[in-house]
Amino acid sequence: MDELFQSRRMWRRHELKPHYDVAIVGAGVHGLATAYYLAKEHGVRKVALLEKGYLGCGSSGRNTAILRSNYRTVEGIPFYELSLKLYEQMSAELGWNVLFSQCGHLTLAHNDSGVAGLRVRAENNQLLGVDSRIIYPAEIRRLVPALDVSSGAHWPILAALYHPPGGIIRHDAVVWGYARACDALGVEIHPFTEVTGMETARGRVERVRTTRGDLAAGAVVNCTAGWASTVSQMAGVPLPIVTHPLQACVTEPLKPFLHHVIVSATLHVYVNQTDKGELVIGAEIDPYQSYSFRGTLPTLEQMATYTLELFPQLHGLRVLRQWAGVCDITPDFAPIIGRAEDVVNFYMDVGWGTYGFKAAPGSGKLLAALIATGRAPELLEPFAPGRFRQGRLVGEKAAAAVSH
Ligand SMILES: Cc1cc2nc3c(=O)[nH]c(=O)nc-3n(C[C@H](O)[C@H](O)[C@H](O)COP(=O)(O)OP(=O)(O)OC[C@H]3O[C@@H](n4cnc5c(N)ncnc54)[C@H](O)[C@@H]3O)c2cc1C
Repeated sequence: MDELFQSRRMWRRHELKPHYDVAIVGAGVHGLATAYYLAKEHGVRKVALLEKGYLGCGSSGRNTAILRSNYRTVEGIPFYELSLKLYEQMSAELGWNVLFSQCGHLTLAHNDSGVAGLRVRAENNQLLGVDSRIIYPAEIRRLVPALDVSSGAHWPILAALYHPPGGIIRHDAVVWGYARACDALGVEIHPFTEVTGMETARGRVERVRTTRGDLAAGAVVNCTAGWASTVSQMAGVPLPIVTHPLQACVTEPLKPFLHHVIVSATLHVYVNQTDKGELVIGAEIDPYQSYSFRGTLPTLEQMATYTLELFPQLHGLRVLRQWAGVCDITPDFAPIIGRAEDVVNFYMDVGWGTYGFKAAPGSGKLLAALIATGRAPELLEPFAPGRFRQGRLVGEKAAAAVSH
């Protein structure tokens, strides 16, 4: 009976072994993507994914699943574009429908400085081959008739950055799709296995302590997002990260009326409508640092207020659920990916803040190449952990903060 049950599972159970080639801490989308590319592209299959909860219990199962590549910097744009392209092929590659809807993404500007900021992004995007352009109220009204683009609005909409390939994916389908593929390639997935400490000697992580026993690994990878600074500290690697909760909510369903993702960084709100008709609404990060997973009334009020600024006709709509996840924010709103400077077998794929779901295939692929070959692919170099000591920050805040 147990055998029958096991054969129907998308990934198998395993005893924890004393040694692996690679141990990845955190089986969210980033840990899974890294394991998948290690096994698939480099033949590194003795890999353990160590996850303290169930798969997707972190931000990978809590995010609003917006994908896009219209970032601002020359470092960020090609990096996110690689990921978007990998997401476009993902259903075919994994043989598993991840329900990626490229419905288009609009970032609104409500004042002149907002328009100027979007122009810089549009120009950088176009120079680097990303489909992204500024549109004005007449075209915005045609694309999104429900938006209040009247000049009498509290926050008039002067322009928008339109990014047609952006859209929404099904986050748990991505997690399960990667997990299935990892399992088929021989990667071991260990849910409910918390890493509680690491022993380091001679600049290496020698042992990883877990709630199911100790192990050693040729390489240890930190993919723990909101917990990244505590896990890196176990290896004696400090990180310039602060952790904030981020909240979102979902409303009762309505007939389809909104066919694009709408973001206003000025109002700190973003909205899209799911295939079921619900509105998914997100906010900016909570204003204080914490590891809390609780939704709060002030944030719910903020989400409702600013949604009504954009769509006044939604007054009276009821909220069904509200939730939070924790986000690891770096000083330059760009991730930290690469090998630790002083611990030679400790790698990190962290600092994903409020925007990391969209980046997982790209960062997993590139980090796997670094771990397997010892050479950092060019696209990874700007995000190396040493950049803070060297003062080479990436400066992605204008396109990364509330825009997701
Ligand atoms: C409300 C919300 C909305 C968001 N919206 C978007 C969006 O629209 N688009 C986008 O691109 N991004 C978005 N994000 C950000 C995105 O969700 C994250 O950046 C991304 O999911 C991070 O993936 P991850 O695999 O690194 O982390 P996670 O999915 O958090 O996985 C880390 C895992 O590490 C595990 N772990 C932690 N400590 C240990 C330990 N000691 N031992 C073992 N396991 C451990 C955790 O249990 C967790 O499962 C949003 C986030 C939130 C919270």
